[in-house]
Amino acid sequence: MVAVPRRLAEELDATDPLAGFRDEFLITDPGLIYLDGNSLGRLPSATPAFLDTVVRDEWGTGLVRSWHTWIDWANRLGDRLAEHVLGAQPGEVVLSDSTTVNLYKLAAAALAAAPERRTVVVDAEDFPTDRYVLEGLAAERGLTVHALRSDLDTGLDLDQLRAALDEDVALVVLSHVSYRSGALLDMAAVNAAAHEVGALVLWDLCHSAGAVPVRLTDSAADLAVGCTYKYLNGGPGAPAFLYVRAELQPALRQPIWGWFGQRDQFEMGQHYDPVDQVDRFLVGTPPVLSLAAVDPALALVARAGLPLIREKSERLGQLVIDMVPDDMRLASPADVGRRGGHVSLEHPDAWRICRALADSGIICDYRVPDRLRIGPSPLYTRFVDVWDAMDRLRDLVATKEYTRLPSERPRVT
Ligand SMILES: *Cc1c(COP(=O)(O)O)cnc(C)c1O
Repeated sequence: MVAVPRRLAEELDATDPLAGFRDEFLITDPGLIYLDGNSLGRLPSATPAFLDTVVRDEWGTGLVRSWHTWIDWANRLGDRLAEHVLGAQPGEVVLSDSTTVNLYKLAAAALAAAPERRTVVVDAEDFPTDRYVLEGLAAERGLTVHALRSDLDTGLDLDQLRAALDEDVALVVLSHVSYRSGALLDMAAVNAAAHEVGALVLWDLCHSAGAVPVRLTDSAADLAVGCTYKYLNGGPGAPAFLYVRAELQPALRQPIWGWFGQRDQFEMGQHYDPVDQVDRFLVGTPPVLSLAAVDPALALVARAGLPLIREKSERLGQLVIDMVPDDMRLASPADVGRRGGHVSLEHPDAWRICRALADSGIICDYRVPDRLRIGPSPLYTRFVDVWDAMDRLRDLVATKEYTRLPSERPRVT
């Protein structure tokens, strides 16, 4: 570890073009250092008032008449996400359901479009829900899941992926940024490799949306899903998004035939006949109140812009890396170009260290087997927050103060 003076962090804050955005969040406990924005983003200050209007005026007074306003929110927010966050075109992104459900819908649609292909490629170290969904789909159809064992710290190697690709592969499902290590994949290169053998790629963008610029159109992406409650600050359980490249939309059919995908929905037709557009991947009535909370949150991200967000995120990550305690090991790619918005550190007692940090008012999180995950979300995290947290971490690790805590883990880690 190099000695980084706190003054350096103070200087970075003084010249930070995004510094003012911290005031756009409701921070009720200024002493708390929150480095878990990659799990649940903070509450934007504009959100409670906006929700209050939606609840009182639109629901309370407008009642069912407010559906004229609500009916296109999922598309409008999708288009804003496409423009400001995902590098996609209008009409390619819509908000709906959860990431898991969207993953199921799009993966099932992709598999149904290539029934002669019998293999699905996933990363064995990817977020569990992604693997489970694909396991389930494969079991139902008698397909083979080829789970690649990527490096836990540096992520999937492109040559390893290429070696797994052949004409039998229908679909490749990968996270753009790995949930544990933060390893960032080269989206364009992966898409190109899959397209060479005629396979589609379904991206999970949960840990990249709002943290790293995503260029779905430029990298010729087919399909993507992701959540809005992490770096996008949409609130717990906020609806997820899905992306389907425009020319694929009419050709793909999702497995849940609901009325929100139906042509002339209110004609109440006898049989399912989905629209050709992205709405064909919708199912039923959207959770309007949760959808509403995404609006002010997305406005902040759009105003700050991904280029500045990424630039600050890279610097915050570098500060973490510069201050890794001697007894901990960096478990993320050291190269900033291969890393997303969070950094993981390895220590056999990572769980108790995480607990001890929380007791000192520093919130990070723990991931199995022995990783401490530090996710400084750029819109509201100051460089001094990271400095103070890392300084405390060094102390904790050096004094082994955490050994006083029990090692049992609760239901949520
Ligand atoms: C957070 C996360 C999810 C969450 O899925 P939900 O359906 O919202 O529970 C899925 N995949 C990845 C990679 C995630 O990081």
